[in-house]
Amino acid sequence: MPDFVHLHLHTEYSLLDGACRIDEVLDQAAALKMTAMAVTEHGNMFSSVIFHDHARQRDVKPILGCEVYVAPGSRLSKSGSPGETANHLVLLAENAEGYHNLIKLVSAGYTDGFYYKPRIDKALLAQHSKGLIGLSSCLKGEVAEGLSRQQEKRAMEAAGVYRDILGPNNFFLEMQWHGIDEQRIVNSGLPAIARDLKLPLVCTNDVHYLRAADAHPHDVLLCIGTGKAFSDPKRLRYDAKQFFLKTPDEMAEAFKDFPDALANTVRIAERCDVVLGEGENFLPNFDVPAPYGLDEYFERVTRDGFDQRLPRLKQLAAAGALRHTIDEYERRLSYEIAMIKKMKYPGYFLIVWDFIRYAREQDIPVGPGRGSAAGSLVAYSLRITDVDPIDFDLIFERFLNPERVSLPDIDIDFCERRRGEVIEYVTRKYGRENVAQIITFGTMKAKAVVRDVGRVLEMPFADVDKVAKLIPPTLDMTLDKALEESPALKDLEQSDPKVKELLSVARRLEGMTRHASVHAAGVVIAPKAITEYAPLYKGARDEITTQWSMKEIERIGLLKMDFLGLSTLTLIYDAIAEIARTTGEKLDIDRVPLDDPKTYQVFQEGATFGIFQFESSGMRDIPAQGEAAAPRRSDRAQRAVSSRPAAERHGGRFHREETGEGRGQVRIAATRADSGRDVRRHRLPGTGDAHLQRGRRLHTRRGRRVAQGHGEEERRGHGENAREVCGGGQEARDFREESRALVRPHGTLRGVRLQ
Ligand SMILES: [Zn+2]
Ligand SMILES: [Zn+2]
Repeated sequence: MPDFVHLHLHTEYSLLDGACRIDEVLDQAAALKMTAMAVTEHGNMFSSVIFHDHARQRDVKPILGCEVYVAPGSRLSKSGSPGETANHLVLLAENAEGYHNLIKLVSAGYTDGFYYKPRIDKALLAQHSKGLIGLSSCLKGEVAEGLSRQQEKRAMEAAGVYRDILGPNNFFLEMQWHGIDEQRIVNSGLPAIARDLKLPLVCTNDVHYLRAADAHPHDVLLCIGTGKAFSDPKRLRYDAKQFFLKTPDEMAEAFKDFPDALANTVRIAERCDVVLGEGENFLPNFDVPAPYGLDEYFERVTRDGFDQRLPRLKQLAAAGALRHTIDEYERRLSYEIAMIKKMKYPGYFLIVWDFIRYAREQDIPVGPGRGSAAGSLVAYSLRITDVDPIDFDLIFERFLNPERVSLPDIDIDFCERRRGEVIEYVTRKYGRENVAQIITFGTMKAKAVVRDVGRVLEMPFADVDKVAKLIPPTLDMTLDKALEESPALKDLEQSDPKVKELLSVARRLEGMTRHASVHAAGVVIAPKAITEYAPLYKGARDEITTQWSMKEIERIGLLKMDFLGLSTLTLIYDAIAEIARTTGEKLDIDRVPLDDPKTYQVFQEGATFGIFQFESSGMRDIPAQGEAAAPRRSDRAQRAVSSRPAAERHGGRFHREETGEGRGQVRIAATRADSGRDVRRHRLPGTGDAHLQRGRRLHTRRGRRVAQGHGEEERRGHGENAREVCGGGQEARDFREESRALVRPHGTLRGVRLQ
C-alpha cells in the first residue's frame, strides 16, 4: 500500500459542515493501517483533545491542526460581503510550541477577529508562526483563489507571503482533486509557483465525511446548517461527491503524476509530534496572608471553621442526638487535612472556600452542597457544604483519594439571579484572562434530526410530524431503537419510500454535533491566561468560553467548577424576604418543620409547580395518588424519597437520618450504589428547599424548562443550547415530552430500598 497521510480533515466538530464521527474515522484509519491522521476543523479546535486521545488509543498519530480563516486585511476590520472576508489556510502543529501558537491564533479568531467566521490575519500569524506548518488549503485558499480567477500574480504573491511568514520549509502548496473544474485549473497552476518560489507540493482530500455514500447525508447536513432546502438551486453545495476518507490507493491514483506531493504527506506527518500530557494539574494561585504558608493557612481556616461548627455538635451530643463522638470528628478532620496536604490540594480548597464565603457575605444564597464533596469534613468545616459527613456516614475517599488522577469535584449551587456576581468575583480575583466559562455542544437527537432532515427534503410537515411522533419519547432514544420498538414506524419505513429516505439520511446524521453554546454551570480558573492551556470561543452573546467541554478541560488538568444557578434558591430567598416584609417575621429556612400537614396536602393535590423536581406531570401524579389521610411521618419520608428521580434511576440507595427532634428535620442522604460518587441531601419536599443532586434534573429557568445532567451536559447545557431547544414550537413540545419521559419511569415507589 502506498504511503499517504490525510492532513486536511473535518469531523462533526466543523459544525454542520463536517460529517465524520471521530471514532468512525479513526477506526477506518486503523483498519487501513494509516499511521497518522490530522484533524483540521473550520476555524476551531473543538475536537483536538478528543481526536488526540482517541487516535492515540488506536496507535494512530494525531496531527493537531486547524483550517483557519484569514482576513484579507486586518482581522479587526469588519466589513464586506461574507464570501469575501476570509480565505482558508490549513495550519498543523509541528511541536508543542506550534500547538500553543495555534491555540492563541484560533482563540483570537473568535475573541477579536470574528466577522461571519472566526478570522485571524497575517500579522497575527507572523507573531505566532513558530512550530506551525501551513498548507495553502482548498479552493477558498488565497493561492488557489488567485489561480482559479486567473490572477496568477495574486496567487504567487500570497504564496510568497505565507512562505515568508512560516518559513520556506513550512509552507506547502496544497492540491486537491474531487473532479471539480476549478481544481484542474489550480492544480495545473501550482507546480509553476512551486518551482518559482521553491515551495513543496502536498496533496489532501479535504475530508468532510467518511464514505462515498455519505455525500448525500452530508449535503443534507449543509442544508440544515444554512437553513436551505435541498432543491434550492442557489444553496451552498459541494458539487463533487468525493470529500470522503479516500484510501492511500485512491489518493495515489488521483495524484499519480505528483509522487512528491504524496510523499510530502508522510514527511509532514513525521515532522509533527504533539503529545497532550496527562496527570498534571494547573491550579490558580491562591494568595495567603503573611506569615502563613499555603498549607498552614488552609489548616488554620479549616480548624477555625470546625470550631464554629463545634458548639452545635456539642449541643447535639449533650441531647444524645449525635451518632458519633466529638473525638471521631476531630480524628477525621486531622486525617482529611493531612490527606489534602499530601495531595497538594490546600490551594484548591481555599479557592472554593473563598468564593463561597464571598457569596455568603454578599447575601447570595448558596446551596447546601452536593456530589461527593459532601463526604468531606473539611468541606463541611469550610462551609463549602452544609452536610455533616460523619452524621451521614459519608466516605471521604469517594471525594478524594490518592489513586484519583483528576482534581476533586465540587459543584456549587447559587441563587440563579446572582450567580453571575460570584463568577464576576472570581474573574476579578484571578484575572479576567484566567477565567472563562465552558462550552457545551448540542447534538442532533432522534426526533429533531428527523424534523430537520424532513424540512430540508421538503416533505410535507404532516408527514414528518407523523414520523417524529412515532419515535418513542424516552430518553436516549435513537432511530435504530425507535424502529425496533415501534412497529408502526417500521411499517411506514417499508411502505413509503420518502420515509425510507428520510430515515436513512436522519440515521446517518443522528447524534452529530449540531451547535456550540455556553455550559450552564461550568467555570474554569487557570493560573495564567486560559489561552496558555486551551483555546477560547466566543458565543452568540459574546460570552467567552473554552473551546473544549467539561470533560476535556478536566482532562488537560484545568480547574473547572460547576457554578449552578438554581432558581429554587432564588425563590426561597424571595419568599423569605416577602415574609419578612409582610409579617416582620424572619424565617430561618434551615429550621422549617418538615411534618407540616398542610404542606403534604399541597403535595397530595399535586399542586407542586415551582417545587424543584416535582413540577412535571409524572411527578405531580405520584404524591397525588397517595392516601388522603396524612401519612405517618416516616411514610411521608419514604414517599418523598421514593419520588426522587435520579437516585432510583441509578440504582441508588437511600438511608434516612432523623437528626434529632430538636432540629425539626428529617434529612435523607442518598448514595449511588454503583459508584458511590453521588451523595445527596434532601430535606422533605414542601419546605421549598433545593433538592440538590447530581444527575438529571429538571427545573425552570426564565420560564423555560430545561433538562440537564452530567453526561448529558455536553448535549444539554441550559445556556443557549437549551433555550434553543426549548424556544417554542414543535421542538419544544418534543423536548418537553422527552423531559417528562425522563422523570416518569422514576416516579414510582418500586425499586427503592430504604435502609
Ligand atoms: Zn477549505
Ligand atoms: Zn477543509
